[in-house]
Amino acid sequence: MKVLKFGGTSVGSPERFEKLWPIIQSQKSDRKLVVLSAVAGTTNALVAIAAHYAQGEVAQARQMIQQLFQSYQVFVYTLFVTTEGIEKGHTLIQSHFTLLDELGNDLFTSVEERWVLAQGELLSTALFHQYLTEKRIASVLLPALDFMRISEDQEPDLPYIQQQLNDKLTQFPTATLFITQGYICRNAFGEIDNLRRGGSDYTASLIGAALKVEEIQIWTDIDGFHNNDPRCVSNTKPIAHLSFDEAAELAYFGAKILHPQSVFPAQKANIPVRLLDTLDIQAPGTLISSTFDHPDEIVAVAAKDNITAIRIHSSRMLLAYGFLRRVFEVFERYKTPIDMITTSEVAVSLTLDDCTHLQAIIAELNHFGKVEVDEDQTIVCIVGDFKRNKNGYATLVSEAVKHIPIRMISYGGSEHNISLLLPSKYKIEALRALHHRLF
Ligand code: ADP
Ligand code: ASP
Ligand code: MG
Repeated sequence: MKVLKFGGTSVGSPERFEKLWPIIQSQKSDRKLVVLSAVAGTTNALVAIAAHYAQGEVAQARQMIQQLFQSYQVFVYTLFVTTEGIEKGHTLIQSHFTLLDELGNDLFTSVEERWVLAQGELLSTALFHQYLTEKRIASVLLPALDFMRISEDQEPDLPYIQQQLNDKLTQFPTATLFITQGYICRNAFGEIDNLRRGGSDYTASLIGAALKVEEIQIWTDIDGFHNNDPRCVSNTKPIAHLSFDEAAELAYFGAKILHPQSVFPAQKANIPVRLLDTLDIQAPGTLISSTFDHPDEIVAVAAKDNITAIRIHSSRMLLAYGFLRRVFEVFERYKTPIDMITTSEVAVSLTLDDCTHLQAIIAELNHFGKVEVDEDQTIVCIVGDFKRNKNGYATLVSEAVKHIPIRMISYGGSEHNISLLLPSKYKIEALRALHHRLF
């Protein structure tokens, strides 16, 4: 079996829908499971609609719902060719949009919000399933809400996913094509939830790991994993092969092409992940696997925005053991992960990207000493193999960014990562300077 995930742009228009079947058909595998994102722009629109509802701005929410509905009407009229197909498509979108509209009549809580966000993937998969049906291509629509589950800690419940998915597949012994929603899931309380923005990649990886498939394919709008962010830097190049560790590091540190957590399930189950381009199906793309084949090379640079840096000055840190443990315990209590950390004798600096509990964390850290907070920071992460040529690479990196104020540097944590923290306004300049110097 293979998992094929198509992202927002790949399902972004009726014309793009038509390109999917030839891709699916060309894959040599007995069974295929297709994971779809929402049509490009839909999740952003749903986020905005939910925000209006949450603020009691019902009229604005309904206006946006109407606009989105109109775009789906055009989609339906273009996608389906038979009168019956158009009618069914219309009924389908109508049912989702009526419910969205009716939400304005009641209390709007985070439960309703997550229901709203789920509509994009529910719509795209239902429309694609119906599109295949019109073309007389057999497929089974598997509701992700029946098998994709996260725990109270927001961690996927892999044994549950595995058992539910296997049960579902055995109910359709002769089916060869399955379709399901990316991104959406249920939480520990059975409510509709999601795997965070860009989460369809994570869905594909989790399903691939659960079913131990031969390959996970991520079909997107670019010809593979590039060696720098193509939105900020020109002349970036696709990388033919990445190890799981390299890809995980780059995804975690901001390479938008993959959801930050999406490499881990595939890596744990040792399932190759292939990044492919829906618009250029001949392009080789990027293979992510357990093998590692570029010793002593810098492979790629990525950047992660919206980082907050915290510095704790404490004379008590001097010669004291147990100090860092107490600092880390504060973050643990608020379930807030730390990305980077650097220390000196009297101060420690660390970074967060989840600031939900920032004020409470600072209040507790104030007991240890003076606390300084810097917002709007970016982590720039350079991934490569730094095992042997240790001095050379650090020098190369610092030379490249010598004109940029650096807030933190992390080197030596692993043998394949150098991370820099800098004010976000210098991000593009730093990425370009590094690209120029390193590649
Ligand atoms: P999808 O909707 O298919 O999930 P995304 O927009 O989430 O697609 O991811 C693909 C986009 O990620 C590319 O169009 C590109 O602009 C951006 N991107 C950022 N960093 C990289 C990188 N290192 N390599 C490739 N694409 C990248
Ligand atoms: N539709 C969701 C988003 O836009 C999930 C995804 O596309 O992967 O974030
Ligand atoms: Mg994505």
